[in-house]
Amino acid sequence: MLRISGFYDSSCSNGEGWRSVIFFSGCPHHCKGCHNPETWDFNSGEETTADELYEMVKANTDHIDGVTLSGGEPFQKRYVDDLIELTARLKGLGLSIWCYTGYTYENLVKDPEFGRLLQNIDVLIDGPFMHDLLDTQLKFRGSSNQRLLELKT
Ligand code: SF4
Repeated sequence: MLRISGFYDSSCSNGEGWRSVIFFSGCPHHCKGCHNPETWDFNSGEETTADELYEMVKANTDHIDGVTLSGGEPFQKRYVDDLIELTARLKGLGLSIWCYTGYTYENLVKDPEFGRLLQNIDVLIDGPFMHDLLDTQLKFRGSSNQRLLELKT
């Protein structure tokens, strides 16, 4: 079971190129100045499935370069199995996978299940948004503590 708070068919501001963007519901980080506080509630948004999201993205493949997982926090135990399956299928369509998370890569990779999901992600933007480190010059990031990590080259 997955819950999403939003879906963009195609966006050019959530990673390189044109990308479908999935906003997952629920976030434990509660960063000051967050742009998506409506996603914090773990019961917000609507229930969906990996199959439904796959079909929604697949419908855009003639005009997108990839998919971005955002939120909310995509790295949740209740989502991880579905997201491993979904990202593997989307990569099979030739799409790149970007993902935003409020956790650091080092913390995520310690967990075997999250580690498996990381294996399907091409670019991870990690770390919470920190208002005191706001930097509007950064590409695809809000604050300078956040890193754009190319996990696959
Ligand atoms: S991790 Fe992202 S969605 Fe969650 S509170 Fe921070 S900025 Fe908002």
